[in-house]
Amino acid sequence: MILKTDERGLNQLPAIATEDSWLSLPWEAQLTALAETAQEIWQGDRVQIWWEQTADDGPSLGQVQYLSCVADTARSIAHFHPSHLAIDALELLWPETVDTFANLLATLEDPAQFEPVFSPGIAPSAVLIVAVQSQQGTRGLILGERQQPWAKADIWTGAYVGQLLGRAGDHRGATQIQAQLRHQTKLTQRLEAELNQATQAWQESQVFIQGILNASPCVIYVYDNLINRITYSNGELSQQLGYTLSEVSQMPGPFLQEVIHPEDATQVGEQRQRWLEDRTSDILQLQYRILLPNGDWRWLLIREAVLTADSMGLPQQTVGTAIDITPLKSKEIALQRANDELKRLALIDELTQVFNRRHFERYLQAAWSNMASAHSPLSLLLCDIDFFKGFNDTHGHPAGDRCLKQVAHILHDVVGRGTDVVARYGGEEFAVLLPNTDGEGAIKVAERIQAILKHQPLSYPDGIEQRVTVSLGLATIVPSMLQNASMLVSLADQALYQAKFAGRNRYCVASISPMQLGKMD
Ligand code: GH3
Ligand code: MG
Ligand code: MG
Repeated sequence: MILKTDERGLNQLPAIATEDSWLSLPWEAQLTALAETAQEIWQGDRVQIWWEQTADDGPSLGQVQYLSCVADTARSIAHFHPSHLAIDALELLWPETVDTFANLLATLEDPAQFEPVFSPGIAPSAVLIVAVQSQQGTRGLILGERQQPWAKADIWTGAYVGQLLGRAGDHRGATQIQAQLRHQTKLTQRLEAELNQATQAWQESQVFIQGILNASPCVIYVYDNLINRITYSNGELSQQLGYTLSEVSQMPGPFLQEVIHPEDATQVGEQRQRWLEDRTSDILQLQYRILLPNGDWRWLLIREAVLTADSMGLPQQTVGTAIDITPLKSKEIALQRANDELKRLALIDELTQVFNRRHFERYLQAAWSNMASAHSPLSLLLCDIDFFKGFNDTHGHPAGDRCLKQVAHILHDVVGRGTDVVARYGGEEFAVLLPNTDGEGAIKVAERIQAILKHQPLSYPDGIEQRVTVSLGLATIVPSMLQNASMLVSLADQALYQAKFAGRNRYCVASISPMQLGKMD
């Protein structure tokens, strides 16, 4: 018999156990003696003796079936209880031989783990437990190891040798540990509940997100800026644009560079770069055309936001949506063209296709102030077709219209600079405004107009060829902001009147007196 003892004098127990007479006692008597001795040592009012019980055909290593209480001084000896009662007792009594109660509990709940907890090397079917309880609670615990092999021992009456593995746990310690255990159990339960809730919420959010991704009419994608590739996309990428994710990720260059319209590439690149640097907005919004696998170009509206950034705040991944706005864009482009045309029509004389008087007035104001700032001369030619009423009367109004168009065309061709403007000023009267042009320049233009009209007869649908002449009034001035641009028109008009008065088919140049320069507005 091997015995380990503690300060409470547990060595008295084996004193009984070693006696041959005790060993020869029937098992009930052995147990009673053991119980009485334990009761005496710990002064408990109740002693329970537990051991493991195996299957009826005899125990074998590692096949513990359950624990049974076989002796109970409070209830006399030898009756059986369900094993969970034994486990309850052990929970209270076993604090010092395992690391934690939870560990013990876990171990006892799985009887297959019984052996290592108690003592390595002890057969699982050879453990005797003596629990002593007093009114204050559990007071002590003895573990015994059965000496005889099962083959030789009568069931339940084998001789037991004590190897004291544990000693009494005191009531306070047990209570504290019990409290700790309860606390820890509650904590564990709460954490488990929270974990379950979090897991459920996460699963629900996954379902939710997946639902959004599937239901979205947009292409949704994740772009990795480090590798310049699309790394995720919903099914709309292939549905709407005809690209699969693997095709896109296998493209030799970044997706965008591969498919973006060359006219949009620079602007999109600059916009993206500005956004990455400034980040004044959370969303980067772009519009550009991409080439589909079938050769079509589609307009996309792109909205991107940063998904992940590095420690410097530089975006690593962006999440984006793309909507095909081609139909919308086509309408927008058509509308833009219509607007441009409207604007053009607002500036252009419908019959002659040179600028109208409205545009001339505006342009005159702008040219006046520009030339005033630059201290440069501004010249105006007012050009009126001679005897045009008679022309109409002779050839009819349609021929007159045709004549007006041809004269306008000649005037348009004669002026060479981009800043020169030809406008229909009135019925058969045209204005030619020449910024940065002095008097000599204006005369050259006037002479060129007359030369062309002289040598080039105007032709009409009915085969008629008819020359027309024009009279011109010229005025040149270096504008001043103190004066009004209308003075230039008045001067040119006066010169035109002189040309008419002098016999027509000529030009006259307005002479401007210093007084006029100072006074006129
Ligand atoms: P003058 O040499 O003094 O300029 O004589 P004129 O006949 O050209 O001038 P007048 O002012 O008497 O007549 C101008 C004519 O220009 C009247 C009209 O028949 C003609 N006219 C004005 N606008 C148009 C137009 O849009 N189409 C046509 N066919 N004729 C026009
Ligand atoms: Mg006229
Ligand atoms: Mg006329």
